[in-house]
Amino acid sequence: MKIEIKLDKLLSGASAGQIGKIQKNIGEEVKVGDILLNIEANKGSEPIKSTVNGTIQEIKVDEGTKVKKGVVLVVIEGNQAEKPKTNFDYFTGMTAVRKQKIEAEITIIGSGPGGYVAAIQAAKLGAKVVLVEKEKIGGTCLNYGCIPTKAMVRSAEVYRNCKESDEYGVFVDNIKADINKIVTRKDNIVKELVQGIDYLLGKNQVKVIKGAAQIKDKNTIEVKSAKEETTITSKNIIIATGSKACQLNIEGKDLENVITSKELLDIKELPNKITIVGGGVIGMEFAFVLSNLDVEVSVVEYMDNILPMLDEDVCEEITKIALEAGIKLYTSSKVESIVESENGECIVSFAKDDKVKLITADKVLMSVGRQPFYEGIGIEKLGVELNGNKRGIKVNDKMQTNIENIYAIGDVTNIMQLAHVASHQGIVAVKNILGEDKKMKYDVIPSAIFTVPEIGMVGISEKAAREKDIDIKVGVFPFAANGKALTLGETKGFVKLIKDNETDRIIGGTIIGPHATDLMSEIAVAIKNKLKAEDIIETIHAHPTTAESLHEAALSLEGGALHFAN
Ligand code: FAD
Repeated sequence: MKIEIKLDKLLSGASAGQIGKIQKNIGEEVKVGDILLNIEANKGSEPIKSTVNGTIQEIKVDEGTKVKKGVVLVVIEGNQAEKPKTNFDYFTGMTAVRKQKIEAEITIIGSGPGGYVAAIQAAKLGAKVVLVEKEKIGGTCLNYGCIPTKAMVRSAEVYRNCKESDEYGVFVDNIKADINKIVTRKDNIVKELVQGIDYLLGKNQVKVIKGAAQIKDKNTIEVKSAKEETTITSKNIIIATGSKACQLNIEGKDLENVITSKELLDIKELPNKITIVGGGVIGMEFAFVLSNLDVEVSVVEYMDNILPMLDEDVCEEITKIALEAGIKLYTSSKVESIVESENGECIVSFAKDDKVKLITADKVLMSVGRQPFYEGIGIEKLGVELNGNKRGIKVNDKMQTNIENIYAIGDVTNIMQLAHVASHQGIVAVKNILGEDKKMKYDVIPSAIFTVPEIGMVGISEKAAREKDIDIKVGVFPFAANGKALTLGETKGFVKLIKDNETDRIIGGTIIGPHATDLMSEIAVAIKNKLKAEDIIETIHAHPTTAESLHEAALSLEGGALHFAN
C-alpha cells in the first residue's frame, strides 16, 4: 500500500517552512518514528518522522523547497502502523502502566554530554546500547549549561557592540535589549541542538528510554515513568547522572527571588539589580552578561579573589576589567543570610573584615558550585564506592567503579566538571568495556571562561608549576601590541606561555583576551605533542590574526618578542 507523508502542523505551530536536510534515500527501509527530513520553520529546524513501516518510494521535495501545510513530502510503500494498543482499564478508569523487558550490552544512565556521547560511540562500535534519561536529552550542558549560557553571552555582546558602535563610525538608533527575545533565541538554539542529538541517537540505533533509572543489581536496571516500566538486563552499566547546583544552607535560600542559573536562563524580565553569590566561572559569566545588559551587578565571593583558580596576573586583569565594567566585587566576604524587604527586594547580609555589610537587589543568583548527583539510582545498596570526601563516584583511570561492570563518567565523578571531560570519559569507558585498554589522562584539559574578554587555560598554571617546584620560564605578550586586536577594538589581556626549562617543552598557557577560548587549542596541541617554544616560533602564523600573539609569546620565551619591548 502506498502511503503519503504530508506536512501537517509543525511543533512550532507554523504551517509552512523550507525543506532542510533530507535524511533518507529512495529505496531505504524506514520504521515508525524514523526521521525522514527536516523542515526549517520560523522557530528552527524540525524533524518530519515516518508514521509507517516500509520502503521509501518517492521523495516529492528537494532541499531548499518552500512548502505549505498539506503538501506531500514522501511516499512510502508499507503498512499503516497499527494503532497502539490502549492500556486503559475501564473498571478503574486508569491507564495501566505498560511493562517491558529488554536486553543490552551497555546501559547508560543520563544523556548529558557524558552519556549521549558514550551512547553514540558505543553504538558506532557495534554495541547494543540503551540510554535512559529522566528529563531532557542533552542534560545540563545542552539545556541549562554550556549552550544556553553562551547564547546569552552572544546576545549581550551584540547589545554591547551596538552601544559602542559610534567608536567604529557606525551609528545605531533605538538600541534595546529585549530579554524575551534573547530567551526565545536561546531556546531555539537549544531545541535545534537537542533535535540534532535525538536524530543522531536514532540514526545510530541507540534505544532511548524516558524515565528515572534505578540499578537493582549489577546487571539489572529498572526505569519507571508515568506510562511505562522497563526492566533492562545489561552486561555493563555507565552512570552519567551529572550534577546539581549547590545551595548555601543559610536563612533566605528558598526565597522566591533567590534563583540558580537554571531559572536565570528563563527569566521573563531583567532585574535592575542582582547580587551574585559566588564569583566562580558560572557566577562571573553571568556577571558580565547581565552587566552588559545594563543590570547593576554585585558579586560576593568567599575567597580572596574572583575566579580564584586563575594565576594572580590573570586574576588581577579580569578583576580590573570587571571593575571598569561597573561590576561591584566583594571578595573575602561570607554571605550569612538573605531576607526580603517590605517592597520585595532581597537584602544579602555578609561578613567582611569582621563587619556585617548589606546589599539590596531585585534578585539573588546562587552560584556556589555544583555537586555530583546520584540520588535514587541505588548505588548505596549496590556498594558503589564514593570518593574520599564522599563527593562523587570513585573511578579508576579506565572510568570503572569498584564494581567491575559498572562505570561512571562526567560530573558525577566530580573530577573535572566540564562537558568535554564528560564526553572524553564516556569514550574511554565505552572503549574499555568493548575490550580496548584506554586510560583517562587529565594533564591537557583546556577550560574556557566566557567573561568579557574570554579566558582560556590549558596544561599547568604558573601557580601550580611554582608550587611543584618545576623550573619554568614564562613568556607573555599583550594584546595591546597585536594589530588584529587593535582593529577589533579588543586590546585588553595577554597570552602567557609556560615552558619547562629542563625539557624546553611548553607545559601550560593562559590567554585572556579576544578569541582566547579558541586560541588556546594551539597551546593544547603543543603540550599534547611535547612541542617546544621553538616549534611555535618556526610555525608561520597568519597576519593579521590574534594567533600572532601566541607566536610572539613563544618568541618572548626564546630571546624576546619582536613586536613588544619587554
Ligand atoms: P549532565 O549534563 O548533568 O547530564 C546528566 C543527565 O542525567 C541529566 O539529563 C539528568 O536528567 C540525567 N539523570 C540523572 N539521574 C537520572 C536517573 N536516575 N535516570 C535517568 N536519568 C538521570 N562546561 C563546559 O565545559 N563549558 C561551559 O561553558 C560550561 N558552562 C556551564 C554553564 C552552566 C550555567 C552550568 C550549570 C554548567 C556549565 N558547564 C560547562 C558544565 C557542564 O554543563 C557539565 O560539566 C556537563 O553537563 C556534565 O555532563 P554530564 O553528562 O556528566 O551530566
